[in-house]
Amino acid sequence: MLSRILLFFLFLSFFLEARDNDYSLNSSFVTLAGARFNLLNNGDSPDRYIWLHGDEQTAKIALEDHVEEYGGIAFFVQSSTREVPFKSTIIDLNRIFSREGAYHALKKFQPYWKPHTLDRALDELDEERDSFLNVLMPSESGILIAVHNNFRGYNINIEKSRSQRVSIKDNQNPRDFIICTNKDDYEIIASGPYNVVLQNQPPENDDGSLSWEAIRRNVRYLNIETRLGQLLIQRAMLDYVAKNLD
Ligand SMILES: [Zn+2]
Repeated sequence: MLSRILLFFLFLSFFLEARDNDYSLNSSFVTLAGARFNLLNNGDSPDRYIWLHGDEQTAKIALEDHVEEYGGIAFFVQSSTREVPFKSTIIDLNRIFSREGAYHALKKFQPYWKPHTLDRALDELDEERDSFLNVLMPSESGILIAVHNNFRGYNINIEKSRSQRVSIKDNQNPRDFIICTNKDDYEIIASGPYNVVLQNQPPENDDGSLSWEAIRRNVRYLNIETRLGQLLIQRAMLDYVAKNLD
């Protein structure tokens, strides 16, 4: 309990010092598309972390442990499902970090929208996205790390075609891998034990994923992805990047 109170006051002081946007000064959460993200703030590390998919519980536990040990600010979505309710539909929060991606995300489960309502929803997301990203993105010295889990088919081979470099290790499961947007970070991770791809150029079709926005903002970004349930591996991958990247 004491540590929770401490975290709250650390967060509060962070907002009092650092925020000049319209977020409330006395809240310990931010919102995106109506979804709430609770913040865990530990110390003054410049690194930022995000857990965006509520059904990927292994990643959540790995991240909580990691921030406790290494510090930084972590954003945790308050949802138990991958998609969250928005307007009259549901959306994947990791598909709305561009207007183009948001357009497809909004139409995925609800193809038909009344005249102008889709545009208005997109305008609203544009505004919220900017405020959210201004809080989420790290300063120049920091790294933004997203943690994800996969359930069955998704693996590193699917990322090959949109990657500039690929390092696949024989003794690693292809479903446990890292996506990286910075070439120097890639070189370091590629020389270590884990699978990694470099994606430092925006794709032809932006699907609204956070990684493309990180590239546009020239932010060092990592997606640490493992099979659901592989807590030890995900912890070890987080540990590896914390110890080896400056
Ligand atoms: Zn995910």
